Amino acid sequence: MALTPMMQQYLEIKEQCKDCILFFRLGDFYEMFFEDAEIASRELELVLTGRDCGLDKRAPMCGVPYHSSESYISKLIEKGYKVAICEQVEDPALAKGIVKREIIRIVTPGTVMESSLLDEKKNNYIGCLYFSRDGFSLSVCDISTGEFLTTSSKGSLSRAVDELSKYNPAELLIIDNNIQNREKLEKTIKERFNLLLSFVKHDSPENNIILERFNDDLSSLNEDELNCCGCLYKYIYETQKNSLGHIVHIKKYELNDFMVLDASTRKNLELTQTIFGKQRKGSLLWALDKTQTSMGSRLLRKWIEEPLISQDEINKRLDSVEELMNNVYLSSDLKEYLKNVYDIERLISKISCGSANARDLISLKESLRFLPDIKAAISVCKTKLLSNIYENFDTLDDVYKLIDCSIADNPPLQLKEGGIIKEGYEPEIDKLREAMINGREWIANLEQKEREETGIKSLKVGYNKVFGYYIEITKSNLSSIPEGRYIRKQTLANAERFITPELKEIENLVLGAEEKVVELEYEKFVSIRAEVSKEVTRIQKMARYIAIIDVLLSFSQVSFENNYVKPKISSDGEIDIKDGRHPVVEKVIQGIFVPNDTFLNLKDDVISIITGPNMAGKSTYMRQVALITLMAQIGCFVPARSAKISIVDRIFTRIGASDDLSSGKSTFMVEMSEVSNILQNATRNSLIILDEVGRGTSTFDGLSIAWSVVEYIGRRIGAKTLFATHYHELTELEGKIKGVKNYCISVKEHGDDILFLRKIIRGGADQSYGIQVAKLAGLPDEVVSKAKEILSKLEESDINKNIKENIKKDEIAATAIDETKSRKDEQISMFNYKENEIIVELKEIDIVNITPMEAMNILYTLSQKAKKM
Ligand code: ADP
Repeated sequence: MALTPMMQQYLEIKEQCKDCILFFRLGDFYEMFFEDAEIASRELELVLTGRDCGLDKRAPMCGVPYHSSESYISKLIEKGYKVAICEQVEDPALAKGIVKREIIRIVTPGTVMESSLLDEKKNNYIGCLYFSRDGFSLSVCDISTGEFLTTSSKGSLSRAVDELSKYNPAELLIIDNNIQNREKLEKTIKERFNLLLSFVKHDSPENNIILERFNDDLSSLNEDELNCCGCLYKYIYETQKNSLGHIVHIKKYELNDFMVLDASTRKNLELTQTIFGKQRKGSLLWALDKTQTSMGSRLLRKWIEEPLISQDEINKRLDSVEELMNNVYLSSDLKEYLKNVYDIERLISKISCGSANARDLISLKESLRFLPDIKAAISVCKTKLLSNIYENFDTLDDVYKLIDCSIADNPPLQLKEGGIIKEGYEPEIDKLREAMINGREWIANLEQKEREETGIKSLKVGYNKVFGYYIEITKSNLSSIPEGRYIRKQTLANAERFITPELKEIENLVLGAEEKVVELEYEKFVSIRAEVSKEVTRIQKMARYIAIIDVLLSFSQVSFENNYVKPKISSDGEIDIKDGRHPVVEKVIQGIFVPNDTFLNLKDDVISIITGPNMAGKSTYMRQVALITLMAQIGCFVPARSAKISIVDRIFTRIGASDDLSSGKSTFMVEMSEVSNILQNATRNSLIILDEVGRGTSTFDGLSIAWSVVEYIGRRIGAKTLFATHYHELTELEGKIKGVKNYCISVKEHGDDILFLRKIIRGGADQSYGIQVAKLAGLPDEVVSKAKEILSKLEESDINKNIKENIKKDEIAATAIDETKSRKDEQISMFNYKENEIIVELKEIDIVNITPMEAMNILYTLSQKAKKM
């Protein structure tokens, strides 16, 4: 038995897109067959039927109506499938044999453009990663906005994951250049991101279309970046089957152009979503987002993901926020204008790709309408950022006028129904429309005329698709028809339908004109759309300006509403916050948020050891310092009475294992590898937040690790650090390591109970109040009193003495090291200390005034000391 011709065609096309679900257009439906049908019927809850395909078994089949296909496609995409859309590419009426069909587009999670499949407040990135011998390159593109970026860096997978977490792509390609340990790579990426991952073959850039497209930008890229961009663009091009005229530039950047944030820090600081529940509400983004447009909302997210490190750039933003805040009229006007602005950025992308309909052009026009107002409003601005925008502001009048004079005000959704082009724009269209109107009017009058002339009162003029216009006369009146007046066309149960030659002629005219108008309107529309898309660069630039104004306005509004202050940006290494608050916690707690001061610098106040019972507010306090610093560096005012912020190059956070259980993989190992990452990468200009390091192991191990970590940061790195710990033994470090200061969050004891005061004060907590907190949490009285009993026994026991002795030993070592350090600025170990002792003695020898015998003795003593080392 042989396959039917249609099935043969199906299988040939399926061969081109094996990794996709093929939506095969048959009439008004997209049908799926075989395995695709089985998957789709399961995932989309469709009825699985079958179709004869020429073989003994029927082919499993299911289908969706084409006009409602978008929601089905979106469900499949969300579930991580790719969908290939196969259309009839010739008119079935004209086709000889089987209608020609082709895949017109492949929809994948990273390449969707339909607004119904996208979150308007979020970019939708597709990325491409390439691992070279000593580093990686990354390219990312949001095809819904036209943004295309690339970078490369030394460093391994974890560094790449950190950078990827900034974009959180929906889809990732990895160039398969004989990658070792592919499974591990796949596992690591999939653990972190919810994305569609595919491996692609490396393609020599010489053959790549990218060379023709982005010639100007390519000179700044290295070979690996070129590879990466090449593969990514090729994939996009092949799935979209469209040259995507709105992707105009490839922008290269360096990782350290911005504050570096690793993946866990982004997560721990809850920048764009909460740790638990992954909600937007409760994140920093949520607290700061008062933007009016989707473009603004997306840019705000980007700014939060990419804090600045240039003092000048930060101040530019801050100054403009201040200017808007001080000018209430200006801000409220701008807010009103922005409310009316649609997503110009995504609209121009659709227009460039030829997928925009007439309503999209109207949305663009309605948005452009406000550009002159916005320009006029910001003409009063004096700050650099806003005045620069004003000077380069392009009100796009030509584009506005073009759409305004050509596209009807309320056009239909479909492009092939007519009614798109405005009257007076195209004489040919107007002429045909007039003919149509006249013809229709003649037909409309026909009923009355025929009734009068024949005297048949129930005579009707009607229309149906098969026979066109007709005159209908009931059987009882047939005899009243004048001889030869009508031509019989159709017989019904109790009526006859007739036509006249004149009616046919007018009908042809009307229907012919209708068809022509629709065709002509479509042609015109396409050419207007192409005209508009020529201005893509100008429109994209304005979309960006609107977004910047929107974010600055949002900053000024939240700053005003929440009493934020303008931070003073500095580079002397000092962070001095008075009455700082946590921007999110202060919004969500019931009751008053207690503000706290912070003082950190590069000299005597480098590391704060923060003790205090659980629930006292340690984590909140530390995150608040990190968030205030980050907010300052994105150019927003900060929740404090006053703040001086020295720019930090990186923020690191490590949140204790017990707090991180939600991810299901908080082993001690993970904790330690994160600490190791911090110790290896932090610099003097970094800010480190360590919450309960060492908790994931036994007390002795944990305390020892916490101790030595603090020591290492203090002596080797010098990074400003907040270190919360329940090992109050660590408070011993103050005075022994330069720069360490103790703080605790005060609590008030009230008999057996404690009251949290939330105020940070100098000094260490002398106990952990664990039992009191447990009592607060509602542990049964019996358990609480037994715990107290055990505690008092333990405190007298050997365990405690042991800890104390160990600390004593460490103290001696630490003191020795400090002395050496003050004499000569190096080393930390006892080993080095002895080595230096010898050097010091050598230096102290008064060679001119000693006898040879004395010299021999000194040499002997030194050599003995050296041998003992
Ligand atoms: P810890 O890290 O010491 O266990 P948290 O920082 O998690 O404590 O704080 C516990 C709770 O205390 C927070 O969820 C918050 O509701 C409240 N809290 C923390 N800091 C403050 C503050 N400064 N003012 C008011 N409430 C606070």
